[in-house]
Amino acid sequence: MKQIPFKNRYIDLGKNFYARTKPSPVSDPGLIIFNHELSGELGLSDTCLSTPESAAIFAGNRVPDGAEPLAMAYSGHQFGHFNSQLGDGRALLLGQIVRPDGVYFDMHLKGSGQTAFSRGGDGRSALGPVLREYLVSEAMARLGVPTTRALAAVTTGEEVAREQLLPGGVITRIAASFVRVGTFEYFSSRGDLDSVTKLADYVIEQNYPACRDAANPYQAWFEAIIDRQAALIAQWMQFGFIHGVMNTDNMSIAGDTIDYGPCAFMDHYAHDQVYSSIDRHGRYAYNKQPSIGLWNLTRLAESLLPLLDDNTGAAVEAAKGALNNYAGLYEDYWLDGMRKKTGLMSRPDRDKALIDELFDVMAANRADFTLTFYYLSMLSMDPADQDKDVRCLFDNPGQFDHWAQQWRACLRQEGGDDATRQASMQAVNPVYIPRNHQIEAAIRAAEDHDDFSAFHKLHATLQKPYVLQPQKDDYMLPPEPDEVVQQTFCGT
Ligand code: AMP
Ligand code: MG
Repeated sequence: MKQIPFKNRYIDLGKNFYARTKPSPVSDPGLIIFNHELSGELGLSDTCLSTPESAAIFAGNRVPDGAEPLAMAYSGHQFGHFNSQLGDGRALLLGQIVRPDGVYFDMHLKGSGQTAFSRGGDGRSALGPVLREYLVSEAMARLGVPTTRALAAVTTGEEVAREQLLPGGVITRIAASFVRVGTFEYFSSRGDLDSVTKLADYVIEQNYPACRDAANPYQAWFEAIIDRQAALIAQWMQFGFIHGVMNTDNMSIAGDTIDYGPCAFMDHYAHDQVYSSIDRHGRYAYNKQPSIGLWNLTRLAESLLPLLDDNTGAAVEAAKGALNNYAGLYEDYWLDGMRKKTGLMSRPDRDKALIDELFDVMAANRADFTLTFYYLSMLSMDPADQDKDVRCLFDNPGQFDHWAQQWRACLRQEGGDDATRQASMQAVNPVYIPRNHQIEAAIRAAEDHDDFSAFHKLHATLQKPYVLQPQKDDYMLPPEPDEVVQQTFCGT
């Protein structure tokens, strides 16, 4: 059997970066799901991870050869307030693996027991949040959004005490990096410039190798981070995704969506939608996400200033210059994506107003986010009765008709043909997203009845989000009034 291709570089950064910790064994590991496809891509097939004994590894009962588990240290701004000592309280970097093409990935267990950073927490995860992260992160990957991936999920055979006793679970996740904005804040807030520099060099090596050759590598790197965050958040916005806890410790330095907690996709559209039970003031509401991205990047800039220039004044100017580009980058990514979603191609200035108006009409009419765009991508230039499906989504369909008239006028000016436009729109407007009520139903069946069939069926559907699948209407449709999920929980 092949060895897992571990090559742990993080460990070389030094002891102040982590606490070496073994996962705490659980009583009865049971494999729920293993991601064969991802395992293949990572070159992990034919290793111990694809044998019947793998549940013991994914539960933390057995540490595979070559792994050097550790809990990473980090700080973070949580809801705007700095907490200097967070760190992995219930997760471990099992090790780093090298994909066949030489790219490094971090392999993490989440829910694997207490660490030096647990701060009184039990280091465990309930099964619900494990299933939620598995479903949503894999759905994001299929939608084409940068994200950490899910490699496996297991049950533990043990209960965790939350508001009630719940079955426990562990998820194994893979990321381009588990370094966060908060990791830089950790060293910067301790005045440890040497470690900030080491960490920056490490991240550039692993995630931004192209920046090494720039005239000023750190400046180029900071600009590249800003670019990736702007692109990422624009994509969230295009799918109606609300992360829910955009604390700086939950922002990946590599530009991936990370730490799926109370995240959710919107059903009906509302500009300021919030689902997270802990986001009482709507700091991380849907429409706040772009500006929170900038706020977080500004905290990163503060940590990186000494790298940008020896002269503090010049460093501040350099950081400001880069941060000032964020809004424009974000707008460009957003508009570009939204124009693809609406099939508009030729006039960005005109298209922005039309797209903004669509969102206003959707909000006023509580139209379903995903289905509005999906049905829109079925329409042709001729507004006969084919508008029926999309009109039904609007409380006052006349308002949609009014918008659609302007939209068709624009399409006519562009002069493309229906079939080409419909195909390109359907390639970016999913039929299926992980809807809250479906996730909830899958979790309830698993937690309450030990029945994973709803989880597997939902997961299978989300593997092909852009393809209409037979007998899958349930997964496409918004919730019935009694199925609506008003709040989501991080489950810590
Ligand atoms: P999160 O809200 O999941 O991003 O977690 C914020 C911080 O709390 C991180 O440092 C986590 O590792 C830690 N944490 C969350 N849940 C637990 C838990 N059950 N036990 C220990 N630490 C936890
Ligand atoms: Mg977190």
